[in-house]
Amino acid sequence: MDADVIIAGAGISGATLALSLKQGGLTPILIDPVVFDAQLAPEYDGRASAIAFAGFRQWRALGLAADIEPFAQRIEEILVTDGKPPGAATSGPTPFFLRFESSEIAARSEGEPLGYMLENRRARAALAAAISRAGIEVLAPAQVVGVQFEPEAAEVRLADGRCLRAPLVVGAEGRGSIVGKAAGIHQTSWGYDQSAVVVTVRLERPHGGVAHEYFLPSGPFAILPLTDDRASLVWTEATDRALALKTSRPEIFHAHLRRRFGDFLGQIQVEGPVFTYPLSLQLAERLTGPRIALLGDAAHGVHPIAGQGLNLGLKDGAALAEVLIEAARLGEDIGSETVLDRYARWRNFDNVMLAVATDVFVRLFSNNHPAVRLARGLGMAVVNRLAPARKLFMQEAGGALGDLPKLLTGKTL
Ligand SMILES: Cc1cc2nc3c(=O)[nH]c(=O)nc-3n(C[C@H](O)[C@H](O)[C@H](O)COP(=O)(O)OP(=O)(O)OC[C@H]3O[C@@H](n4cnc5c(N)ncnc54)[C@H](O)[C@@H]3O)c2cc1C
Repeated sequence: MDADVIIAGAGISGATLALSLKQGGLTPILIDPVVFDAQLAPEYDGRASAIAFAGFRQWRALGLAADIEPFAQRIEEILVTDGKPPGAATSGPTPFFLRFESSEIAARSEGEPLGYMLENRRARAALAAAISRAGIEVLAPAQVVGVQFEPEAAEVRLADGRCLRAPLVVGAEGRGSIVGKAAGIHQTSWGYDQSAVVVTVRLERPHGGVAHEYFLPSGPFAILPLTDDRASLVWTEATDRALALKTSRPEIFHAHLRRRFGDFLGQIQVEGPVFTYPLSLQLAERLTGPRIALLGDAAHGVHPIAGQGLNLGLKDGAALAEVLIEAARLGEDIGSETVLDRYARWRNFDNVMLAVATDVFVRLFSNNHPAVRLARGLGMAVVNRLAPARKLFMQEAGGALGDLPKLLTGKTL
């Protein structure tokens, strides 16, 4: 055997899993076509992610605190508004908005915010440094092109002809998982004909840790607070329009942006490149197969409307690591069906429910039909008046509900 676990994909989910396994005494190998240095380049990933407070506890428990905390912006408040131009929610009460405040759940979450905004490149840099400190073997650039299954091991084939064997292979290679395909796992998928335009802006006025999400007819428009009075914008548009925006001249782009953004945070200045991401749903019919397990976007790629895709991948990794480490300590075969079943049972329901809920939200909130708008507006107004319902949403989005893996409560493995 070349390792205990071969992980195809050293993205944020795969790299976090590798650190968790290593902490528990297992030997992982990470494989990725893109070396860490290239993943950190400014043009590689322009996104910032809303990380639930439970996901952040996991990174702290894995020793990443010093590398991520200086760049993590606390989200103290989330304002969700229907169909209004940005800024409208702050300029006076309308019946159709939802306000979530961290102070409402402070006692239960030990004073943590609703979540943290962190630029993906900061998370990647912290993970790369921790992986190097932990001495985890990384094969990159290298690409998994196939997996063969034997009774006691799986053999991974790389594009350069090398072969590696381990009792378990994890597919963390994002959408279109090769590992999943090799195991015959079918993926259900459809596109939304929408793309997200992502850009970072500098603000003239302080954002106060408030995240805004506006449901406009073309899709959600989110203003997500970053450190140093910057914000990450996720601006959903029909795909052809999103591509036209990305390639438009800077002054044209700025004029369109200004119209969406309003002026409630003063002058805005675009920093860095404009990125676009096509949006779709992809859901694997199973999380496991013979000597394989899927996690992160390889198992479930969802629309970013609720900022939950990566959070699901972090939860998967925390659960899988706990199951495997416990099994190894009991002397069980970590790639056996009985062990992998525990992971699948732990994560399957949460993943499917969130993928379905996200899909329903996208259809409900990217719709301009007057009756649908009225119904969703009333729904938001009702939830906004019910403190227990608001708290439930906040606890769920913070990743604090259900049977939590130890790492998500901040404990080490
Ligand atoms: C606009 C936008 C905003 C988002 N905002 C949020 C948010 O606020 N909060 C949140 O939780 N989520 C958010 N998401 C979702 C989140 O970005 C993804 O869920 C997350 O990046 C998935 O990470 P991953 O590691 O599972 O997969 P990926 O990031 O896709 O990583 C897969 C890795 O596998 C490697 N790979 C590919 N093929 C192979 C192969 N054959 N062999 C080996 N390696 C391979 C790739 O090079 C890559 O490094 C957002 C998504 C979008 C599009």
